[in-house]
Amino acid sequence: MDFQLTEEQREFRHVVHEFVAKELKPLARHTDESGEFNWTAVKKMGPLGLLGLEVPEAYGGAAVDALSAAIAIEELGWGCGSTALAISAHNGLALGPIVKYGTEAQKQEWLPPLAAGKGKLGCLSLTEPGAGSDLQGGVRTTAVKEGDSWIIDGQKMWMTNASISDLMVVLVRTDPGGGSRSLSHILVPTNTPGITVAPAEKKMGLKGSPTHAVTFDEVRVPLSNLLGTEGRGLQQTLATLDSGRVGIGALAVGLGQAAYEAAIKYAHERETFGQPIKQHQAVQWMLADAATELQAARLMVYWAAWLKGLGKPYTKEAAMAKLFATEVSERVCRNAIQVHGGYGYSAEFEVERLYRDTRLMTIGEGTSEIQRLVIARHILDL
Ligand SMILES: Cc1cc2nc3c(=O)[nH]c(=O)nc-3n(C[C@H](O)[C@H](O)[C@H](O)COP(=O)(O)OP(=O)(O)OC[C@H]3O[C@@H](n4cnc5c(N)ncnc54)[C@H](O)[C@@H]3O)c2cc1C
Repeated sequence: MDFQLTEEQREFRHVVHEFVAKELKPLARHTDESGEFNWTAVKKMGPLGLLGLEVPEAYGGAAVDALSAAIAIEELGWGCGSTALAISAHNGLALGPIVKYGTEAQKQEWLPPLAAGKGKLGCLSLTEPGAGSDLQGGVRTTAVKEGDSWIIDGQKMWMTNASISDLMVVLVRTDPGGGSRSLSHILVPTNTPGITVAPAEKKMGLKGSPTHAVTFDEVRVPLSNLLGTEGRGLQQTLATLDSGRVGIGALAVGLGQAAYEAAIKYAHERETFGQPIKQHQAVQWMLADAATELQAARLMVYWAAWLKGLGKPYTKEAAMAKLFATEVSERVCRNAIQVHGGYGYSAEFEVERLYRDTRLMTIGEGTSEIQRLVIARHILDL
């Protein structure tokens, strides 16, 4: 296994890093405190390829390899968790399934404008008030055929980007009989009558990434808006989440890296007992652990992305990478606060925000418990 990045991948990382350092990181605190989505920076992402990372060039995308896509999300996470989550969801959860399952007409209609950043973003709507981990058993939102239309009714929860999207990929029940072939994906433009997007949820972190409950009341879209195969929504969702988990793992590594860098800087500057705190072994060990665990997490994320890029199975590796990277990130951010002492608890210092932001990563796109379930199923033939 050779993780030496190619010249192209290194250059891409450099370009994204410079962009993030200029356009996202300096504004991350404002984004958190104001809750305003950073449209100014996002509008500049189209030409860089960040809004269509793995979209083929024929549809206006950047067509970067899966490892480069993970690197881009890692860099975005290093700069601003809120914006990174929005861009990760847009790429991995909305565009990803359209690239993989869309008809030619769907790709032509949706990919070029979304990848160019001409309008707004895209989002994926799986979760409901009564269904998160258990989508197969829990999804109540229905889509019923009537003439040449689907009629969608129900309520969704926790939709990242709902208010800043032109398009939702919605998981619906198309067979009331239930079972593993009862769910489907439908493309729903956000301006379709009958959709109500509730005000943004008040959250612990990622405050500049709007998350919403969304109600569908007799929402009518053409039958041709079915994405992929009718009845295969669960399987399509699981494949989409494999990819999304690589993204969340990468985002968590980026958040952890930012916290680690802040802690290293502070350990040089702060003095106690007549010397910089980096001279205290307890501080050294927290930072040594952070460096070690972040490196391991990054390699696991890259490994899963690499397998994905090769077209090999990577469900287990994506779950392992997400599980490990998100839990490492939480630990690194926690200890970065510890290194800062009382100042680490202050909103004046970046580590306080990073800790709040990274907390979501062990929950969204499958909790740590669900990742362990996926891994166990693979290693135990369950
Ligand atoms: C900020 C944010 C953004 C989000 N963005 C999106 C989005 O864009 N689109 C979307 O569809 N969803 C989104 N979500 C929803 C998210 O994916 C779910 O919250 C998550 O999958 C968990 O589902 P749940 O909240 O229903 O928890 P539950 O499924 O109710 O789980 C509750 C607890 O039980 C545990 N648990 C459940 N089942 C098992 C089991 N079989 N074995 C062991 N433990 C189990 C869980 O791990 C958890 O600890 C978002 C959530 C948040 C907070």
